[in-house]
Amino acid sequence: MKAIQTILCLFLITSQGFSQEISERDLECGTPEMDAYFESDKPWFLNNNYFLEVLQRYGYDLPKDYFDSIDERGHYKGEKISLRRYKNDSLLIPKLKKGNPNSGRISAENLRLLSLINYIPLKVWVHQNSSNVSPFTQPQIFEVIDLVNELFANNDVPIRFYISCDITTIPSSLYNNLPSENSMNAMFNNFQENNVINLHLVASGFSIGSSGTIPSTNLFITPSIVGGEANRGLLVHELGHCLGLFHTHARHCSSSSYPNGNQNCNNCNQESVSRTKTQGLFCLGTGTKKCEFNGDQLCDTPAEPNLIGGFSASQYGVNESCQIVWPNLKSQDNWGDFYSPMQFNIMSYARSKCRNSISAGQIAKMLSYLPSFAHSSSGYQITGFSNVCNNVQYSYNVPSLQGITSYNWTVPEGTSIVSGQGTNTLTVSFGNSVGTNKELTVYPQGCGYPPVSIPINVRNFISILGPTSVGPTSTFNYSTQVIDNVVYQWSIPSSWTMQSGQGSHTIQVTTGGSGTYTLSVSASGYGCSKYAEIQVNVSGSGPIQRVDFHSTNEIPPNQKEKVHEPFKRELVKIIIIDPYSYFNMEVQSEEEFKDLYLNLKSGFYIIQKVYTDQMTTLKYLKR
Ligand SMILES: [Zn+2]
Repeated sequence: MKAIQTILCLFLITSQGFSQEISERDLECGTPEMDAYFESDKPWFLNNNYFLEVLQRYGYDLPKDYFDSIDERGHYKGEKISLRRYKNDSLLIPKLKKGNPNSGRISAENLRLLSLINYIPLKVWVHQNSSNVSPFTQPQIFEVIDLVNELFANNDVPIRFYISCDITTIPSSLYNNLPSENSMNAMFNNFQENNVINLHLVASGFSIGSSGTIPSTNLFITPSIVGGEANRGLLVHELGHCLGLFHTHARHCSSSSYPNGNQNCNNCNQESVSRTKTQGLFCLGTGTKKCEFNGDQLCDTPAEPNLIGGFSASQYGVNESCQIVWPNLKSQDNWGDFYSPMQFNIMSYARSKCRNSISAGQIAKMLSYLPSFAHSSSGYQITGFSNVCNNVQYSYNVPSLQGITSYNWTVPEGTSIVSGQGTNTLTVSFGNSVGTNKELTVYPQGCGYPPVSIPINVRNFISILGPTSVGPTSTFNYSTQVIDNVVYQWSIPSSWTMQSGQGSHTIQVTTGGSGTYTLSVSASGYGCSKYAEIQVNVSGSGPIQRVDFHSTNEIPPNQKEKVHEPFKRELVKIIIIDPYSYFNMEVQSEEEFKDLYLNLKSGFYIIQKVYTDQMTTLKYLKR
């Protein structure tokens, strides 16, 4: 570390007096602004709503009016959107079709999609000076990439970066210092690998970092990124440009005076604070929403003057505590509305340490550009079971990969590795703990392969999903949770007919005459043995009794219900079933349940409360 500081000091002294200010400006990047029509051939141009479809493909079911109901702070109807809250796993699960007992199955492929992370390879080039010294060490490089991934994970961005191969060091590099864009472009041309993002680490440059263009498979970074979480903001910002993001203060006007962001543009070119204001009569894009045409063209990032403020520290638009310093910025747009900029956004020019948030629109835009980059979908897969029983051993395998010396596996909490760590075959024992949406991941050590994951759902319990109140001689489906590699043995009342599905997790049956019957299933194999049963009331004359919404419990559950519950019972879990998709979720307590119901879409649900001695099934209507 000491050697690095020495090199930095030398650089500062040898540069002109200006250099002190540059070193303090951990703020500016050299990526150019793009013309307003730069993305006019893209499906999202002037159509932010396109991004709703993109997010939906990744399991994020945002409200349909999301982009049309953004307030002046960039918040949906006044509240900050957390993508996590809108994660809808059932979106990716095929709906159950009549007559096809397997169509409701949550396949391993669907489950893989649910947790799909796109790994983008980075090729790291370290440019040494004439004494063969670089201000970067390998641990610092690994650390900052981890920190970038952490920031992406915190924002629910399904993208991660990894170092694709050995880091290449270039002794006495001509590009250790990049005085101009020309030298940057020469470096990008001379040191470049295909199908990766080339990350160049240099000692100094005409800016503290740049991606050259948007999007880009190249970027350079100066040592401003070294020093932990507070300094990762620059690398995140440049990678944002690489994946297609504009500055939040993006200007589509020319201005020679600094600062030159959105705040100095004329009426036709300025992004307004208002999210509904449209382009004026004699402007390009007349009639289109300004938040889609000006600035970064995303309505869920608020209009921003340009948070860098002035040139020197005393003029910065954001202070050390990440608070906005209004005297250093214009506080109102051309129409007199007060700015509410987002100083925590990664694409702003706020200080590095402030930049930690990414809007849903920005995430969708990065995902839209993703096909231009090589990522894990072209790689390999883990083979093994996704739906497993607790307290059972399972094996997972990846192919033997060329150039990989070791395989580092991580397993879900509560799971122990029996054997195979370091090899391409792992045997694990799932402990007592259960749950869905867990992950098992392998990190190949060496060159050229990203980590891959397989989703894991650990079950110690199954239940039967299907109607409990039906008409006579009618045909229905009953289903239970999927456990891989088990045989399902269903028992139906003698007066009923099994139409299809015996042995699988879903059956189709035809009921007999009126009465109360028990339907059961046992799942066994591979060390598993699970059992469930359900009481079905057959009555009436129609094909199915309608669910009476008037007698249906509202969510949240009312308190009276608790009074009727036996005194000494202990709640084991609550299962929330969407009878439309047959997808289900499990929680362990009433508190978790109350938290979850807030996130449920309106509709009809079956809630099963599993106690130590019995199970109750309730119907709920979420309005
Ligand atoms: Zn930038």
